[in-house]
Amino acid sequence: MPKTKVSDAKKLEKELMFSFKNIAKEEPLKLKEADKFCEGYKEYLDRGKTERECAKYTEKLLLAAGYRPFEPGMQLTSGDKVYTVNREKAIIAATIGKKPVTEGVRFNIAHIDSPRLDLKPNPMYEKDEIAYLKTHYYGGIRKYQWATIPLSMHGVVFLKNGKKIELDIGEKEGDTRFVITDLLPHLSAKQNERPLKDGIKGEELNIVIGSVPYPDEDVKNAFKLMALKLLNDEYGITEADFLRAEIEMVPSGKATDIGFDRSMIGAYGQDDRVCAYTAVMAEIKTKSPEHTTVTVLTDKEEIGSKGNTGMSSRYLHHFMEDISDIFGVKVRDIYRNSICLSSDVNAAYDPTFPDVYEPANASYINHGPVITKYTGSRGKSGSNDASAETMAKVTGIMDGQKVYWQIGELGKVDEGGGGTIAHFMSDWDVDTVDVGVPVLAMHAPFEITSKLDVLYTYKAFKAFYK
Ligand code: MN
Ligand code: MN
Repeated sequence: MPKTKVSDAKKLEKELMFSFKNIAKEEPLKLKEADKFCEGYKEYLDRGKTERECAKYTEKLLLAAGYRPFEPGMQLTSGDKVYTVNREKAIIAATIGKKPVTEGVRFNIAHIDSPRLDLKPNPMYEKDEIAYLKTHYYGGIRKYQWATIPLSMHGVVFLKNGKKIELDIGEKEGDTRFVITDLLPHLSAKQNERPLKDGIKGEELNIVIGSVPYPDEDVKNAFKLMALKLLNDEYGITEADFLRAEIEMVPSGKATDIGFDRSMIGAYGQDDRVCAYTAVMAEIKTKSPEHTTVTVLTDKEEIGSKGNTGMSSRYLHHFMEDISDIFGVKVRDIYRNSICLSSDVNAAYDPTFPDVYEPANASYINHGPVITKYTGSRGKSGSNDASAETMAKVTGIMDGQKVYWQIGELGKVDEGGGGTIAHFMSDWDVDTVDVGVPVLAMHAPFEITSKLDVLYTYKAFKAFYK
């Protein structure tokens, strides 16, 4: 062993070793900027509790920013901003770049559906003098977390005459709310023996909607009838209309600051509206990019991206074909030169539950957006696994703009895992990598993000679009 002085070791350490920085330590003054940026984000969360509401509010933001509805065959030149909505549930916004589209576009894709409780097609019943709605959960939830919290009802019902009714009950001050009950501790000795995953079972996710009967001796289901009567008075809905409806129950309440320092945000649906908001803001603020930007807010990610509003559908491909037709080029020549950020959240390291993370490869709150090379489970199965070339390109873009970023795996090897939409874009021959905000208590009715991470994810997306 050669003898080196301590100062040499320190020098070498600085040259050779590496660790990600905590932005709150490095640049505490940025919290003010983050705080300001997140006011718009909180509003975005409050206005979009479902994919439909989120798409609608996003369209409003795009229109206010001068975006025009996209039409196949329309004339497009550098700096033009267009958007299109897919069946009220997904949205594509684009800014035409200075370079020809065949030099590649910059895709940024986030999802705006979140885990929730959907009503079953025939949901209404009464039992022992209480009226209920049956649900079937959507996406990965820990069912026990959804009992004894106020819930709101959002959705779309088509009446027999074709009239569309939009429901939004339980968010406004003074609105009524809904709830799933749980046992009291005094009587839960037996339930306590259940494994946590069965604390509340799927068929126990029943929503209380009323306790007063229709005042008539002759009716068999008077409690259910009363609930139906009130719904009918207000919205014209009958029981048969539920068969055609799409009604989502979500946690009621607004996004809020968390902590004495107000450095975090607590809210429902931050997976993945946190990436949706930051992506849309970057899209809007990008005025004359080199490469054409294509920002996509998609649906159905939480249930595997199937369905024609999810990324396994060709709706984005069709949009890209329309773009290639406008410029008289082949769509495959666009794809093979493009880069895509599959923008989705990752699990932030939780000091209360350290065992499921591998600390050197976990993401941390306040360390900025997480670049996730691979997702998947059981040996990266199902993962896009971005190439070294793609990692170099994307991290190079971030470093060039002095944006904080970190890397992160989704938990320890073989601890669990998950997937994103990344592989759908690599299917089209596009270099793709996962990037997103680290989240605490992901998929819970109330998820936590750091404001600095939200701000720096926006900055990363801005850098990507430059
Ligand atoms: Mn997600
Ligand atoms: Mn998710």
